Amino acid sequence: MSTKLNWLHAELAALREQNLYNTIRTIDSPQGAWIVVDGKRVLNFCSNNYLGLANDARLKQAAHDAVEKFGVGPAAVRSIAGTLALHNELEKRLADFKGVEATISFQSGFNSNGAVIPALVGKEDVIFSDELNHASIIDGARLSGANIARYTHNDAEALEDAITQSAGTYRRALIVTDGVFSMDGDIAPLPQIVEVAERHDILLMVDDAHGEGVLGRGGRGIVDHFGMHGRVDVEVGTMSKAFGVVGGYVAGKKEIVEWLRQRGRPFLFSSAVTPADAAACLRAVDILEESTELVEKLWNNARYFKKEMKQMGFDTGASETPITPVMLGDAQLAQNFSRALFDNDVFAMAIKYPTVPQGKARIRVMISAAHSQEDLDKGLEVFGKVGRELGVIKEKI
Ligand SMILES: *Cc1c(COP(=O)(O)O)cnc(C)c1O
Repeated sequence: MSTKLNWLHAELAALREQNLYNTIRTIDSPQGAWIVVDGKRVLNFCSNNYLGLANDARLKQAAHDAVEKFGVGPAAVRSIAGTLALHNELEKRLADFKGVEATISFQSGFNSNGAVIPALVGKEDVIFSDELNHASIIDGARLSGANIARYTHNDAEALEDAITQSAGTYRRALIVTDGVFSMDGDIAPLPQIVEVAERHDILLMVDDAHGEGVLGRGGRGIVDHFGMHGRVDVEVGTMSKAFGVVGGYVAGKKEIVEWLRQRGRPFLFSSAVTPADAAACLRAVDILEESTELVEKLWNNARYFKKEMKQMGFDTGASETPITPVMLGDAQLAQNFSRALFDNDVFAMAIKYPTVPQGKARIRVMISAAHSQEDLDKGLEVFGKVGRELGVIKEKI
């Protein structure tokens, strides 16, 4: 009798026992304000589809046209025979959009962090990393082999202390932070971080996955939001959130991008996104450049929803963006809350340890430009009802 998988059975059973087993729901519709989840039509408060572009007719048409013209697969890694004119065009258009010297595209945002961090620092170096950085930054940092010095979340003074303490112990250094933190919706204090980075002449990298399409003029991202153009060396982006498609990129100084074409391992050893993806991404950039309407709608929706939630007595934490955490504390309460929402046709996930610290469980609401006023009001009504039923907020007087 083989016993080699016994440890897995035990691990999986333990997850179930601790209520930490991740049950993955299946979507059977396009993304949008309403989706079909496990056969039920529900109001969607879970997706990163900030601008509603994931099922936009213009992006779909661009993808169709690209399939007709270029087929479905890239057929090789980009450094051998897989670079299409579409990939190059997308890189150029993204550089213009972001106001940077150059960009290089990857298969995902996750991959972009795995490409750029190990290309910039190695075993003799140090990475100063915000303690709440995204998993893909953590993995990219580990992959680099550099020493990782975590600093207190969004605390530029703690960052500077960590730099001072490490003085003389490394060859090169890199400061890395998320732009917008995905579980709390707060924004990195970029001007202060830039000052520290400049004072110590250290490379600075920002992962703008939840900032682009959201922050800055027409959704140009966190660097634009703070007017820090030219002062952030590396930005990582994703095409899978506000842009509505899939893919990632690194944006910044031209020599960094040039180096990644030589040494970015996911660029060299994994095929690029398909022609349909690249064409749809290009169309998304067009749309953002043509009009700020969707970004404004997103913010109007987010402000309205948060204001009404606070008025009802919910705690929306430290959010400064359309990411709206509804702080509940207890993991079981968050789980019950999410289930009750679903019973009332509202889809919003409970987020608990280890994604957030113990005792900080919450429901995370993702507001989108795809939501209509009616959708938001329906969501608010259900949140109010469930909140009162579960004793999270008080009865209306
Ligand atoms: C979502 C996210 C990513 C991953 O992006 P994908 O394109 O989905 O791989 C990377 N970094 C941060 C900060 C993110 O929020």
